[in-house]
Amino acid sequence: MRTATILTAGAISAASAGRINRADFRREDIIYKDVAIIGGGASGAHAAVRLRQDYNKSVVVVEREPILGGHVDTYVDKTTGRIHDYGLALYFPYLDSFDFFSRPEINVTLSPWFPAGGNEVRYIDFTSGQELTSTFQPPDESAGPIAVKKFHDLMTANGWDNMTQPGYWGLPAGKDIPADLLLPIGQFAKKHGIEAMLSTMYPSTGGGVGSRGNFEDILTLSIIKAFPTAWSKVFFGEVAMFSIDGGNQFLYDKISTLLGKDVLYNSQVVNSKRSNSGIELVVDSARLDDDEEQPGKSQKGKGKGKATKKLIIAKKLLLAIPPTRENLAPFDLTPAEKAHFSKPKYGRSHTAIAKHSKLPAGVQLRNLPLSATANPLSPFLQTPFVLSFTSLATNSPLFSLGSSGTNYAAFPPSEAKKVARKAIQTMVDAGTLPDLEGEEVEFVAWSDHGPGGFGVSAQELREGWMEDMYALQGKRSTWFTGNGIAADFTTMLWKFNDQMLDRIAEGL
Ligand SMILES: Cc1cc2nc3c(=O)[nH]c(=O)nc-3n(C[C@H](O)[C@H](O)[C@H](O)COP(=O)(O)OP(=O)(O)OC[C@H]3O[C@@H](n4cnc5c(N)ncnc54)[C@H](O)[C@@H]3O)c2cc1C
Repeated sequence: MRTATILTAGAISAASAGRINRADFRREDIIYKDVAIIGGGASGAHAAVRLRQDYNKSVVVVEREPILGGHVDTYVDKTTGRIHDYGLALYFPYLDSFDFFSRPEINVTLSPWFPAGGNEVRYIDFTSGQELTSTFQPPDESAGPIAVKKFHDLMTANGWDNMTQPGYWGLPAGKDIPADLLLPIGQFAKKHGIEAMLSTMYPSTGGGVGSRGNFEDILTLSIIKAFPTAWSKVFFGEVAMFSIDGGNQFLYDKISTLLGKDVLYNSQVVNSKRSNSGIELVVDSARLDDDEEQPGKSQKGKGKGKATKKLIIAKKLLLAIPPTRENLAPFDLTPAEKAHFSKPKYGRSHTAIAKHSKLPAGVQLRNLPLSATANPLSPFLQTPFVLSFTSLATNSPLFSLGSSGTNYAAFPPSEAKKVARKAIQTMVDAGTLPDLEGEEVEFVAWSDHGPGGFGVSAQELREGWMEDMYALQGKRSTWFTGNGIAADFTTMLWKFNDQMLDRIAEGL
């Protein structure tokens, strides 16, 4: 989520042109630590806890938002007191990852997760507003899990699971990456006779949330990042799903309390110097604007920060943010690093809660092209789209929604809101939904999930992009973690961290 952006990429580049002079900082604004961690989402927050508590290393986390948690979005309905996790919803056990929840300093409890149940589903083409007629048969629900199990077995039989989870340490060199993994997912499914898995993968990945391209054209490796073998087990009942009692944000609020002053909120790096013997970072903690893009993002926010400039001097740097050009601009990249990180292109996704008293409560309005009538196994939407409006309760005017666009820059919250409002109006105009009687759709919570997808093409992977990415680990005292370069599930990212922490802590 990037709506609390403090500085523009342009401002950052301009700032990063400067040199770092320690004499420019007051003594109390210079922070000495073993490891500086950028980003306090699932990866950064976990790494901070483990490095500090288990490895006895000092850390500082630089987080752009006023809270920790990244993709977690917990909304508390003030009228009913109900808690809605409208971003990251659930956790599934991957290896021993659940031990993190029960650490004595964290100690959150979990309960089995169920989708907002009991919803009647209506299939509607949001671009025409027309409801799919009675001739439409939704995909056979039972065929998906069988095909997913075949997918799982195919992945493990070929050793592709170990190449792609939790990270890509095991992925062969570019030219040796199995050709199947570089096929578009539609072709991969056809080749292996498992097309039915697509209608399971599609909603599970939010329609390939934020990926580049339309669903059936997305690279298999990219889909696998959001649908790894370990996760596939959920669909044939081998693994269960859980959410945190009190809402998923509760975990990160606990981590926030634990880390205390070791987190700089509302903060971004604006300049840096990295070498093999350590790093220096200039950090701006700026006041947040009253951002109309972010109503209700956090009901637990820490309020507005006072603008300050700090210098962090650390032995190592852990980047737990998506490795986009914009994010990495202030990090003193070499020309080779710049070339490497300028290749990926990202999509963008958003989640939100919309409020309207005339929308049908207790119903899920699912977006499906009219052509899906003829081809139920390819109910894929053209981006940008809203996947669905899902009523949060039969007696509530609140609806969750997720939307996705192919081009990061072209799909800011303002655009996504236009797409959502237009979808509703189109359904009204087609007579599928009742007249709104002049009531505006209100977005009571909005979360920009920022750059999504894999970002790199099959050709770039063949040319060694991932190999080069992992070769950067540890160079110039810098490490990378997070969903930009590993399987995109919290518990898997925690295990990815676990694979690296010994190496990061070495020599500190
Ligand atoms: C809509 C959606 C639903 C999902 N649902 C689930 C789910 O139910 N279960 C699951 O396991 N996974 C889910 N995921 C996957 C999720 O991405 C991962 O589980 C995980 O949260 C990613 O963690 P991360 O640390 O890599 O990134 P993030 O959680 O995105 O954390 C990155 C952090 O860095 C901060 N940041 C970004 N840029 C900067 C910067 N320049 N400077 C400082 N700070 C910065 C961000 O504010 C954020 O806090 C979902 C993803 C999406 C998009």
